[in-house]
Amino acid sequence: MRLTNYFLPVLKESPNDAEIISHQLMMRAGMISQSSSGIYSWLPLGLKVLKKIENIVREEQDAAGVNEILMPTIQPADLWKESGRYEDYGKEMLRINDRQDREMLYGPTNEEQITDIFRRSIKSYKELPQLLYHIQWKFRDELRPRFGVMRGREFLMKDAYSFDLDKQQSEISYNKFFVCYLKTFQRLELKAIPMAAETGPIGGDLSHEFIIISKTGESDIYFDSKLLEQENELFNINYSEDLSGLVNSYKTLYAVSDDKFNQDDFDKNVSNENQTKSKGIEVGHIFSFGTKYSEAMKANVLNKDGKQATVFMGSYGIGISRLVGAIIESSNDEKGIIWPKSVSPYDIGIINLKQKDDDITSISDDVYEKLMSAGFDVLYDDKDDNPGVKFSRMDLIGLPYQVIIGNKSKSDSILEVKNRKTGDISEVDIENVTSFFKNS
Ligand code: ATP
Ligand code: MG
Repeated sequence: MRLTNYFLPVLKESPNDAEIISHQLMMRAGMISQSSSGIYSWLPLGLKVLKKIENIVREEQDAAGVNEILMPTIQPADLWKESGRYEDYGKEMLRINDRQDREMLYGPTNEEQITDIFRRSIKSYKELPQLLYHIQWKFRDELRPRFGVMRGREFLMKDAYSFDLDKQQSEISYNKFFVCYLKTFQRLELKAIPMAAETGPIGGDLSHEFIIISKTGESDIYFDSKLLEQENELFNINYSEDLSGLVNSYKTLYAVSDDKFNQDDFDKNVSNENQTKSKGIEVGHIFSFGTKYSEAMKANVLNKDGKQATVFMGSYGIGISRLVGAIIESSNDEKGIIWPKSVSPYDIGIINLKQKDDDITSISDDVYEKLMSAGFDVLYDDKDDNPGVKFSRMDLIGLPYQVIIGNKSKSDSILEVKNRKTGDISEVDIENVTSFFKNS
């Protein structure tokens, strides 16, 4: 993409209401534009990152054997009256009446909708388990929308649901999602720690929030620092194997968020020097809730004995739009964003330092073409701005590598390649530019 063709409305100053660094940088880098409180438009650079995250999440759901569907944003109130949540949800739910005066709502989540889909078509235990997900916009009329896309009112979520015959089977599904989440966050180059969360009246230990450590996070977290060293080979996961060993290697180490914290348990389970208290951002939440919705909404199947059995359910969310902010929170410096390679909007940025010099511009054009045909996604700064503007803009948007083309490229056929994260600069022969990137 040539910058002269691109819509990249960078700002010099961050807006006054942007309290945290990710919100400031997303505004300054022209990634989003505010529509109203907690509601944003996604501009080209931001949308590209959002889609990259979405795709990684999708690939890992697919790999775990979860089926993608797409449910509507607008749901009928009747379903929520069946589960009893129409009243319970309170003011966070945006309620709408259609022209026939039927009560509708903009979905804040989809347990009711999916349970309805399930009960219409699945009638036998033989068709279980069923694992389904979708990636769809949600609306929650948050009391205090803030921090940009981190606590929005309209936000993009991946939500998945499991249906099993009994508690034991539903734990197998739960473990699949647990491992799938570890793998997803690892691919996003994030250290997300699974933390035991409130399970409500059902009890048990089948609710975990995946939280990344960040001083701007809204959750207080308490955990065993051994969790930070926990590394697992997750690339060749076989989801049909027993995953409980892997899951337990996390579960047995103490880690909880605010509402589950208890000082005595902390002291009992974690040595003093390993006790870590911090703040974190919740990027995912998995939750097994048994028959809560299936009972109220009569989602039954026939079991082996030909009797009606109420299915056991779980739900599994990832905040895709929140992740854009969360990744920036954990990867930035005083100059701007530093994208992990897996979600960077472009692989490489090219800076032509002398747009008015025909030779340098023709070299830049060639390098751009070469890298693009080698399969790299490149953002080419071909604007007629001064070098200072170009350098700071490229640093701000945080692509992993910058190819800097100037006088030396003309006289000695040499380019400078800057690594955004380390600041290291390598001199690369123009001829070798594609092989340089293939090896880095
Ligand atoms: P929180 O405690 O942050 O309000 P939640 O527990 O209400 O979140 P869930 O219902 O578990 O959220 O939703 C699943 C995921 O959706 C969360 O883990 C989070 O990543 C994301 N999410 C929830 N609310 C928002 C929001 N207002 N803006 C952006 N992402 C959100
Ligand atoms: Mg949650």
